[in-house]
Amino acid sequence: MTDVAGASKSTVGTLYVVATPIGNLDDMSARALKVLADVALIAAEDTRHSIRLLQHFGIDTPLAACHEHNERDEGGRFLTKLLAGENVALVSDAGTPLISDPGYHLVRQARAAGVNVVPVPGACALIAALSAAGLPSDRFIFEGFLPAKAAGRRARLEQVKEEPRTLIFYEAPHRILECLEDMEAVFGGERPALLARELTKTFETLKGLPLAELRAFVAADSNQQRGECVVLVGGWSAPEGEQAISTEAQRVLDLLLAELPLKRAAALAAEITGVRKNLLYQLALEKQKAE
Ligand code: SAM
Repeated sequence: MTDVAGASKSTVGTLYVVATPIGNLDDMSARALKVLADVALIAAEDTRHSIRLLQHFGIDTPLAACHEHNERDEGGRFLTKLLAGENVALVSDAGTPLISDPGYHLVRQARAAGVNVVPVPGACALIAALSAAGLPSDRFIFEGFLPAKAAGRRARLEQVKEEPRTLIFYEAPHRILECLEDMEAVFGGERPALLARELTKTFETLKGLPLAELRAFVAADSNQQRGECVVLVGGWSAPEGEQAISTEAQRVLDLLLAELPLKRAAALAAEITGVRKNLLYQLALEKQKAE
């Protein structure tokens, strides 16, 4: 049996993880409104922020703070309510909770305590950006926010330099230019990229260009360095004419070659890395000859 919001009836309450708009209030779903109006308590990242959203929709459910500084300790307070059979909703300031937002500890604690946890999906900046970017969307990775300092940022970018899946990053507006500069330096200026700014809002901009041109576009217009932004970068592919074997795949092959016969090492490396067995076999032969 399920209630109006779609959760199973049981003696413990349900923790609803509710997505809210990332700018345009019309993106609030009918189900999200129903859940927020029906629960006993709303755990909110910033109660002052969420109260405005609730007032806009005429909802007067009580709010309590659940942010990164109190989440671990205060989780118990929400759990007590849930275990007593009351329903609680978790919201963040914008978009989907837990996605570069608080909520992980509460959800983990709730699940560990046997509480039902039900997602109420809706807006999420990375998914909105990806859905309109025109970059491969069958496989992608979300890197969240990069480190604020240049050295850390570059080191993180180096780690995903040869990642074949589409890369998605969140970035603060005051760092967007240096972030694009570092991406150009690490990934190369030719990589396809897209800046999605102020999604669903008045000044929404989606600009897709190779990294060098995108960096120049943002540098030339200070308006592009304002507002909220998502950066997408096309995944790595081997330069034309070169074999598609990343340095990581080569490292795996080297490790296996040290322990196994050539054919077995190439086959296992292919399984681990997803690179074609033939390519790795050829490379292993070349390595053997060169020794
Ligand atoms: N939980 C949110 C989600 O589901 O997307 C993300 C919260 S995170 C603290 C905030 C970051 O998300 C912003 O710095 C920006 O990178 C991205 N973001 C949020 N709203 C956005 C929007 N309307 N347009 C572009 N990026 C946005």
